[in-house]
Amino acid sequence: MRIPFIAGNWKMFKTKAEALAFAEEFKGLYQGTDVQTAICAPFTNLEALVEAFKGTDIKVGAQNVHFADEGAYTGEISVAMLEEIGVDFCIVGHSERRQYFGETDETCNLKLKKLFEGPIRPILCVGESLDERDADKAFDIVKGQLEADLAGIDGELIKKLVIAYEPIWAIGTGRTATPEQAEEMCAFIRETLIALYDEEIADEVIIQYGGSVKPANATEIMNQEEIDGALVGGASLKAKDFMEIIDF
Ligand code: PGA
Repeated sequence: MRIPFIAGNWKMFKTKAEALAFAEEFKGLYQGTDVQTAICAPFTNLEALVEAFKGTDIKVGAQNVHFADEGAYTGEISVAMLEEIGVDFCIVGHSERRQYFGETDETCNLKLKKLFEGPIRPILCVGESLDERDADKAFDIVKGQLEADLAGIDGELIKKLVIAYEPIWAIGTGRTATPEQAEEMCAFIRETLIALYDEEIADEVIIQYGGSVKPANATEIMNQEEIDGALVGGASLKAKDFMEIIDF
């Protein structure tokens, strides 16, 4: 049984004071639901959010991590550093990191392997650009990303994986994929997992859709059979909107 999982991705928004104000408002609105919830916040907010959400089932995630244990990597954060402050999830391979910060399938693969050594669950982002979709290459692109990002990772570990299908053309653009397009790709992702592993393993993996999810479209997206959740950018910055999405 896959529990629906809706995560916020704050990107580079919110100071610590703003994050704590959100946490107070959100806790006030949050009644407990059947949906697993997390906020993936900037590094500087993680410890404060873990503390603020203590005693609730609201989880906290990071948006990136380095794959080395430690070392001369100025500006980077290790898995041990995230584990120490009690982070539950970590986004890997978001398209903005692939586009602006040199994230590759190879570094995604190393990051997944490192995260899978410990308890933090990765949220792996995959998705095609508009050009790739228009050229009918969306499925090949996503399959290629999955094959490369998951290479050499044992099936038992894959059961802990969350995959977010985020078509790049739908991120922050207000242009959501249609529920049918999202469903079709999420089903294809599960088929690819069956081919790479087996049905039992593929059945456990949470597959989210991400890209302009908002209160107005959350219900039809979440009602799709193969979509187990959502990764929500802009609409997760407002406690009320994010709560409405979780209550889809
Ligand atoms: P968006 O971002 O909801 O603002 O489109 C989604 C994401 O990038 O994870």
